[in-house]
Amino acid sequence: MLRLTELKLPLGHPPEALPAAIVARLDIAPDALLSHRVARRANDARRRSSILMVYSVDVELADEAATLARFAGDHHVQPTPDTGYRFVARAQEGAPRPVVIGAGPCGLFAGLILAQMGFRPIILERGKVVRERTKDTWGLWRRGELNPESNVQFGEGGAGTFSDGKLYSQIKDPRHLGRKVLTEFVKAGAPAEILTEAHPHIGTFRLVTMVESMRETIQELGGEYRFEQRVEDVEIEMAPDGIRHLRGLTLHSGEQIDADHVVLAVGHSARDTFRMLHDRGVHIEAKPFSLGVRIEHPQSWIDRARFGPCAGHPDLGAAAYSLSHHCSNGRTVYSFCMCPGGRVVAAASEPGRVVTNGMSQYSRAEFNANSGLVVGITPERDYPDHPLAGIELQRRWEERAFVAGGSDYSAPGQRLEDFLAGRPSTALGEVTPSYKPGVTLTDLARCLPEFVVAAMREALPAFGRQIPNYDHPDAMLTGVETRTSSPLRITRGRDFQSLNTLGLYPAGEGAGYAGGILSAAVDGIRVAEAVALAMTGQQATP
Ligand code: FAD
Repeated sequence: MLRLTELKLPLGHPPEALPAAIVARLDIAPDALLSHRVARRANDARRRSSILMVYSVDVELADEAATLARFAGDHHVQPTPDTGYRFVARAQEGAPRPVVIGAGPCGLFAGLILAQMGFRPIILERGKVVRERTKDTWGLWRRGELNPESNVQFGEGGAGTFSDGKLYSQIKDPRHLGRKVLTEFVKAGAPAEILTEAHPHIGTFRLVTMVESMRETIQELGGEYRFEQRVEDVEIEMAPDGIRHLRGLTLHSGEQIDADHVVLAVGHSARDTFRMLHDRGVHIEAKPFSLGVRIEHPQSWIDRARFGPCAGHPDLGAAAYSLSHHCSNGRTVYSFCMCPGGRVVAAASEPGRVVTNGMSQYSRAEFNANSGLVVGITPERDYPDHPLAGIELQRRWEERAFVAGGSDYSAPGQRLEDFLAGRPSTALGEVTPSYKPGVTLTDLARCLPEFVVAAMREALPAFGRQIPNYDHPDAMLTGVETRTSSPLRITRGRDFQSLNTLGLYPAGEGAGYAGGILSAAVDGIRVAEAVALAMTGQQATP
């Protein structure tokens, strides 16, 4: 098969226009095209009056070798790449069982790959099975009742379960591991279009069902899930040569588990676990992350700004955006985790703290668009003292937000015009905030560092010049957004093991090696492969 890229057709073209365009592009007779399959579909909305659909297609031709020769040197006509996944090892009979801590996307894929290679992993998850967890999550959103062990951050499916389910990432992926992730998601019930859309998303309800289906697959392959089993301690043995080896885990029930190959996929909110690992001498470094708020606009404003007269076309869906501004104070403000047609959600996992994030359903049909509006911060400049200092900084501002919101898990909110003017809001305007259990109008500058406020005040008018109405006086800000990525890295070596503790495989977002569902899942695969290679006496190479 050959892959043809950058094939452009007008928005709303009939289906038969695609094979016709292939035939024309390759300059072949229509009957020389035996079959074709869309490999990727995107839109190019740079010219709003004539939006284009941009395709990559895999084509089967009567004479592929001759066509390839005719197009030698044209990088838009190439052999179709082999994106198939190959296992790197196979478990030996009676092999010990690896342990995976955390059932988020990273732990889920580490567990799945290990199970598919015959390793029968044990997956330990502090939170509940996903249906039970859903009730607890809604308990915070509807009644302001937080369960610190079962919420948006903790429980089966991990942090991305109640999300927009965006499934794209900027990571380098020469082995097409992202394709393996998407293929497994489709097997578990995701719509097949995620394999071809340039910016696929799943939405919350489907993610819940998919997570259940993947659990069943892992169990059928001999894996074992243990829910409500928080790992509270690690046993580390010092070998005579001075090298530290992980030997076991202690659960909060007091039960001890022997384990010398452990994938640590605990996500960015496992602050108690990070503290424990630091106390046990596991190498941890502070790393940059971002702080800010959520911003909401009616989705129709964003659709009009991005798609002009084509707004609402069914092939386009709800419009997304991505913005960035370098400020005079040296900070960068950017949009983060944009959720078209979704809602702002309460994403706290600790009592007495308020955190925002965003989610949507597959249809992306809710009234508002939301996005994080965040400012990059670094350990060197903002929390230099300790590897865990970023966590304390997050906590400080989450507590301020809790108090400013009225101490009942309502979030502090402000109209954009009032934020720019430095005065508390007293009434809503055109934009109704979607955050539940509710929003308390106030002055958000009380809940954010001064430099963050200054940077956001500079960036908002600049963003308004890129997206009309972005800086509309009534756009709604809700805070605080603190869990943009992990504030630390549990550094690993080339063999994927902790720099100073063999047998511990830090993985995913919490360890600082991923940011988002897809990259966390890909990291889970890579770490599972490293574990499998180590358990079968082979070397892992990153
Ligand atoms: P997590 O998903 O955080 O999973 C870690 C798991 O470990 C949790 O289930 C936790 O309960 C468990 N755990 C923690 N400590 C312990 C312990 N001591 N013992 C046992 N278990 C433990 N990303 C996207 O790409 N697209 C999106 O649209 C998107 N939207 C999001 C919306 C929301 C509301 C949130 C909160 C996040 C969103 N993200 C999104 C980010 C994405 O969810 C994360 O990047 C991803 O889930 C990280 O995966 P992970 O497996 O590394 O960690």
